[in-house]
Amino acid sequence: MNEFSWVFLIALALMTGVELWLSLRQGKHVAANREKVPTAFADDVSLEAHQKAADYTQAKGKFNRFGSVFAAAVLLAWTLAGGLNLLFDGWQSIGLSESVTSVAFILSFFVIGSLIELPIDWYKTFVLEQKFGFNKNTPALFLSDLAKQLLLVVLIGAPLIWAALWLMNSTGDYWWLYLWAAWIGCALFMMWAYPAFIAPLFNEFKPLEDQQLKARVEGLLARCGFKSQGIFVMDGSRRSGHGNAYFTGLGSNKRIVFFDTLLETLDEDQIEAVLAHELGHFKRKHVVKNMGVMAILSLVGLALLGWASAETWFYQGLGVDSQNSALALVLFMLVIPVFSFFLHPVMTAMSRKYEYEADDYAASVSSGEHLIEALVALYQENASTLTPDPLVSAVYDSHPPATLRVAHLQAR
Ligand SMILES: [Zn+2]
Repeated sequence: MNEFSWVFLIALALMTGVELWLSLRQGKHVAANREKVPTAFADDVSLEAHQKAADYTQAKGKFNRFGSVFAAAVLLAWTLAGGLNLLFDGWQSIGLSESVTSVAFILSFFVIGSLIELPIDWYKTFVLEQKFGFNKNTPALFLSDLAKQLLLVVLIGAPLIWAALWLMNSTGDYWWLYLWAAWIGCALFMMWAYPAFIAPLFNEFKPLEDQQLKARVEGLLARCGFKSQGIFVMDGSRRSGHGNAYFTGLGSNKRIVFFDTLLETLDEDQIEAVLAHELGHFKRKHVVKNMGVMAILSLVGLALLGWASAETWFYQGLGVDSQNSALALVLFMLVIPVFSFFLHPVMTAMSRKYEYEADDYAASVSSGEHLIEALVALYQENASTLTPDPLVSAVYDSHPPATLRVAHLQAR
């Protein structure tokens, strides 16, 4: 324990305390508004659906509060209680080469971490989501997903970790700059490779067959001057009843993906409006701006790591006796969320501004009326609350609350 231990403990206590406090606030606000559908939605949303959303939000809140405390306990177990020390010493005692020991240590850290979270994910899927009728997953599929994920972590992770450690140990004082460049390269490569090679391991993607809808979508793309490599339907219903639509890919390799669940919930007009909103994110350059922000934040983060990893207090303060690149990387991944937690409101404010801009774009190339209908239908289908606590929403919600989005669209 040193002074940095106390800084870390205070930041962790503050983060966990704020998370619990916000969650309790959300619970109170939703409970207080449970008996009445907000006036703007009174015609479209039944009291029954509104109350289901309230109960689902409460159940998620309770689960998240447990999750916050559990995550803090796991973090303390890894750091100050000596978990990482034990794991690293264990690998070192086998007597493998330094680089093999380092890679094995980091990989085993990831694998143990996902096994610790397994009961939590299991509970969320088979108890929480099940209770509200959203779960479509089966234990067999859940376990095969986990096995595939762990296999990917080992197969893709091993060479990447080896390369990162090599950069850290061989490129001098400015290794963090090289690591940053490599990280950006990897992120761009994954954006390109993910839709084509990784996503198909977990879901089935079929070209959109509904010719009438396809013509409609292609008409919208032509109007917006947008080129894509195809329109696909994903079998999201294999795991969950929640619906979505998204774009993936890079450059001219962009694809449009609809969850089958979304196509079942919305009609053609509404689907076009939702797609127009997603196109708005591209047309207003939100994707590029987000990538720019991530690049700057990761550069700042790696520069901080470059500084801290050379200091003995960084390791000792977090309960680790040895001092090397592998431990520095793992410690950094563990503690950075604690210190960056307080950036949440800034990031969500930026995201919410983009959502309004995308809504404006959708209203100009498609229809604001249809987008409102789609929003109401999706909120209802996903049992998202229409009455979040304003402060909670400002901290966490990447999308403005439904009431504000609808009011914004109506005011156009
Ligand atoms: Zn959006």
